[in-house]
Amino acid sequence: MAKQEIKVNKIKSTILDFNKNLLSKNSLKVLKKLNQSGFQAFLVGGSIRDLLIGKEPKDFDIVTDAKPEQIKKIFRNCRLIGRRFRLAHIYFGRELIEVATFRSSETSNDKKSKYDNKGRILRDNVFGKIEEDVFRRDFKCNALYYSILDDLIWDFVGGLDDIKQKRLNFIGNVTKRLREDPVRMLRAARFNAKLNFALSHQLKCEIKNNSKLLNNVPAARIFDEFLKLFQSGYGEKAFCSMMELNLFKEIFPYTFDEAISDGKFKSFIEEALRNTDERINSQLSTTPMFLIGVFLWKPIKARAQYIQNENQYSKIQSMVIASYDIVGLHQDLIAIPKRFSSSMREMLIMQIRFEKLTDKQASKLKNSRFFRAAYDFLLLRSIVGDCSREVVNFWTKVEQQTIKIKYPKYNKNRNYRKLKGL
Ligand code: ATP
Ligand code: MG
Repeated sequence: MAKQEIKVNKIKSTILDFNKNLLSKNSLKVLKKLNQSGFQAFLVGGSIRDLLIGKEPKDFDIVTDAKPEQIKKIFRNCRLIGRRFRLAHIYFGRELIEVATFRSSETSNDKKSKYDNKGRILRDNVFGKIEEDVFRRDFKCNALYYSILDDLIWDFVGGLDDIKQKRLNFIGNVTKRLREDPVRMLRAARFNAKLNFALSHQLKCEIKNNSKLLNNVPAARIFDEFLKLFQSGYGEKAFCSMMELNLFKEIFPYTFDEAISDGKFKSFIEEALRNTDERINSQLSTTPMFLIGVFLWKPIKARAQYIQNENQYSKIQSMVIASYDIVGLHQDLIAIPKRFSSSMREMLIMQIRFEKLTDKQASKLKNSRFFRAAYDFLLLRSIVGDCSREVVNFWTKVEQQTIKIKYPKYNKNRNYRKLKGL
């Protein structure tokens, strides 16, 4: 059968609301250099989408017909990463521009199956042309290409229309695309929250019906998505969207059960997400361990209570064991790095220690490096009535008395003699 010709709609960026002022200068340098070396090069994906809706892109991805080794030869500041599919990382100080070679979703000549028995794509590592690259992207709105040579946006699949209509549509057959990579369901929830782009009723149903496929995704990838969903300043909306699409319960099933049966716990989660979003949007520091602690709080508390009743362990011992048990139950669902689960444990144990209201306890706890996070956690608990006023008031006083150490400003003087005061 003859291959169907693929049409592309090329549109001058000047007739669109394409905010070029927000383009990274370094990404322009990369595009220019690739073009000067005789290669095709485009900005692609989220950056085009975001520039069209007036948002500042998080990162700038580039695709080209140059092979990784050819890219490396052009840029001194380039490192090739990945074994299966090599990508070029080009560094400009703290900014990283990722350059990928066009990929095809066609199977390579080797005989090994490309999919597992649930339809999840295992290999996606064949070079291709732009007309092929476009069809392996997830949503139409993420499949626009921008060329600086002629200032044109290339639209193969109606991405511009979707952006105008603020909607999310998969490229190709929805069920197949979800099965190929179930993480795309989490991406749908994320873009729904981040961009306020709508999902059709049919897409929502497809996701709900296939949400179990998330259990077939490597737990480390789920953790990466968790960070993007909840550490980007729109976590509350992402939670809402994940709940609606049955996705939250696949990653945090015990949290889901507790939140459904206990409205106070659900409010606690929402309050914590709102608070984290506000911190992120005000450029204040956050740590993923805080929200992991929030999500696992009720399951850990319930398990700790059980352990205490059954084994006569102390409250603190029970909490320690329970937090190991509950984190362990999640290990196949979401790979929580040890550094986060251990600091989360400290923060949760401190909730028990906070019950003792003595000066000795205050001076012991206020110097802990987990005090600030544990106190914030306590404040959130108090908002939903999960601890007594007396406890919050006591620790609020302690917190206010804690001397904030002021570090002197970094001395920019590089002269050693001057630094010594000579
Ligand atoms: P943002 O950077 O704002 O989170 P993005 O759309 O740029 O959103 P990235 O993860 O940076 O997301 O991916 C860049 C592009 O790569 C996407 O726009 C999409 O075209 C493609 N892509 C990423 N992940 C997938 C996936 N799982 N399946 C298909 N295409 C994907
Ligand atoms: Mg991106």
